[in-house]
Amino acid sequence: METSHTKEDAIVESLRGSGFRVTRGRVALLHLLKKARKPLSIQDIVRTSRGKTMDQATIYRTLSDLANAGIVHRMDLNTGTAHFEYTPDRPHHHHLVCTDCGVIEDIEDCAIEKLEKNVARNSKQFTNIYSHNLEFFGHCKKCPAA
Ligand SMILES: [Zn+2]
Ligand SMILES: [Zn+2]
Ligand SMILES: [Zn+2]
Repeated sequence: METSHTKEDAIVESLRGSGFRVTRGRVALLHLLKKARKPLSIQDIVRTSRGKTMDQATIYRTLSDLANAGIVHRMDLNTGTAHFEYTPDRPHHHHLVCTDCGVIEDIEDCAIEKLEKNVARNSKQFTNIYSHNLEFFGHCKKCPAA
């Protein structure tokens, strides 16, 4: 299949670009996240990929490595476990999360980048800031506030 071949190429490229060995497990994990096009919780990821190529401990460790390398973005959506999103093919963005049903909306507009530069400039101990997290929480239209 032509299209899935191209998709895998992008994943292989981002792995190689960050110095990772291209393993079937890493490609499968990134494929799952890329296809979802939204943040997935560790439980979602484990449930979907367990038994195929990796056990749970390996999935945790791999996600953590990929997040540290910047291939996936790790975030806290106040659910008690980390969420991960594949980001190399996405513009930088933030999220709006419904705390009732868990629906997630992307917010493409980031007003933080200017602040980030100021923070770096004014910091006494840091010269470099490479990332920030900001998520918004509320009730979606289907879950009106009680
Ligand atoms: Zn997102
Ligand atoms: Zn909702
Ligand atoms: Zn931002």
